[in-house]
Amino acid sequence: MSDSADPPGPPSFHLDGRLYVKEMQSWKAVVKRDFAKLYCHAKMPGEDFYHLLTGGEVYLDNGESKLCLNCAVRTGVLTTDRQHWQRETKPTDIRSIPNSDVGLD
Ligand SMILES: [Zn+2]
Repeated sequence: MSDSADPPGPPSFHLDGRLYVKEMQSWKAVVKRDFAKLYCHAKMPGEDFYHLLTGGEVYLDNGESKLCLNCAVRTGVLTTDRQHWQRETKPTDIRSIPNSDVGLD
C-alpha cells in the first residue's frame, strides 16, 4: 500500500464543490420544485438537444434564460474561481432559444 492511499472509511473529499456566479446581480439559483417540462436554454457543443431540467435540480435563471449548471459552468456564468471578482473575464454570450424551438409553444 502506498502512502497516498486513503485510510479505511469513506473516501476523502478533495473537490471544493462551491460555485460562484460572476454576474451576481443578474442570475439567481433556483430549485426546480415540480416535474413540468422545462429546458436549459443552451446546448453543449456537438449536441442536438436541449437539457431537460428535472424536479429537484438546481439551475440558474436571469429572467430571460435558464441554464443547467453544466451549461452555466461551460459558458462562464458559473466559476469555481473563488476570486473571480478580481479578474476581468466576461461570460460567453448566451444564445437565447425561443420557446417554440424547445417545444414549449
Ligand atoms: Zn444545459
